[in-house]
Amino acid sequence: MNPLLQPHQLNEIKKNLPGGVVENADLSEMSRWKIGGSADCLIRPSGTEDVARLVSYLTAQDIPFIVIGSTSNLLFADEGLRIPCIQIGDKMCDFRESDDTLWGQSGIWMPFFARKAAQNGFSGIEHTAGIPGTLGGLICMNGGSQRKGIGSHIETVTAVAPDGEIKEFSREECGFAYRTSVFQENGYIITEALLRFTERRPYQEIRDEMLEILISRRKKFPQKLPNCGSTFISNPQIYVKYGPPGKVIEDLGYKGFRKGDAVVSEEHANFINNEGNAKAADVLWLIRKIRKDVENKTGFEMKAEVKFIDQFGVIKPAHLVDDHVIADS
Ligand SMILES: Cc1cc2nc3c(=O)[nH]c(=O)nc-3n(C[C@H](O)[C@H](O)[C@H](O)COP(=O)(O)OP(=O)(O)OC[C@H]3O[C@@H](n4cnc5c(N)ncnc54)[C@H](O)[C@@H]3O)c2cc1C
Repeated sequence: MNPLLQPHQLNEIKKNLPGGVVENADLSEMSRWKIGGSADCLIRPSGTEDVARLVSYLTAQDIPFIVIGSTSNLLFADEGLRIPCIQIGDKMCDFRESDDTLWGQSGIWMPFFARKAAQNGFSGIEHTAGIPGTLGGLICMNGGSQRKGIGSHIETVTAVAPDGEIKEFSREECGFAYRTSVFQENGYIITEALLRFTERRPYQEIRDEMLEILISRRKKFPQKLPNCGSTFISNPQIYVKYGPPGKVIEDLGYKGFRKGDAVVSEEHANFINNEGNAKAADVLWLIRKIRKDVENKTGFEMKAEVKFIDQFGVIKPAHLVDDHVIADS
């Protein structure tokens, strides 16, 4: 398999997706963390059929590819990205409401979608207020807050297999569990989702609850500098004795600790801010060091929530990255 796109293949993709291809996209500008080299080829499709045509072409040509949303949970390699990167975003953000359902394309901005649910009096996804990302990214991560996940309100997910086949997944088939789903493993691209709501409440009530969540997030989480939200997932064994990751890391004295321009936030120690020109290697170094110290103190391991993408598109939780990618001490 040749990971590099040949010029005739690039032209074929451009012909099929006019205006949907960006060459040499600077990941340190477009990614949420403002970290990463250049991506050779970023492709932004406009719907399920586009995605199906695109991936069946790439697979038939033996070209590997990856899918991203708004990058709010991703750390890109300093070397950038050599394989095509399919970004599901603002070209795929249609939505429709019915009496008790909300349907959306997966590129829809989640805070907007959650607001639409509230305006319809649909209760249940208030906990997603303020979570940056696309609907597809949130489904893939089964994201949420207050230990809830978006998965509990999913009726069906439409997704495209690597060979271009379009499949509708029931909620059970999505395999939702805490901060995970089958889409982290099966290679399908989520393109649409239908959410069903069994509980209704007055808009004002839902709005007030969401505002409260937003205010509390603004107080707790750093707002100004680029970061990827929580770096580590809470480990229940550590939680019982020592508290959530932010507290454990803070108690070890990490607030303000830095490697290059990657700095453990003063406001919340589970966040790593980019103070200017942080490198992926610096962030990975901090993650490794913090994990080691937490393990020494508690006897348990913390896993990273953030995912690292290497230049050939291999996506792994950031604590599983090979040593040679990590900065020297
Ligand atoms: C300040 C801040 C606060 C945050 N707070 C929270 C929080 O409270 N709770 C929480 O759960 N998360 C939180 N996050 C993490 C992040 O917002 C969520 O994980 C979000 O849902 C990711 O969406 P995304 O579109 O940015 O996906 P990306 O980060 O682009 O991708 C995440 C993963 O999903 C996959 N993916 C993306 N789109 C698709 C698709 N269409 N089909 C298949 N796979 C796809 C990618 O391959 C990748 O593995 C926070 C992040 C930040 C920066």
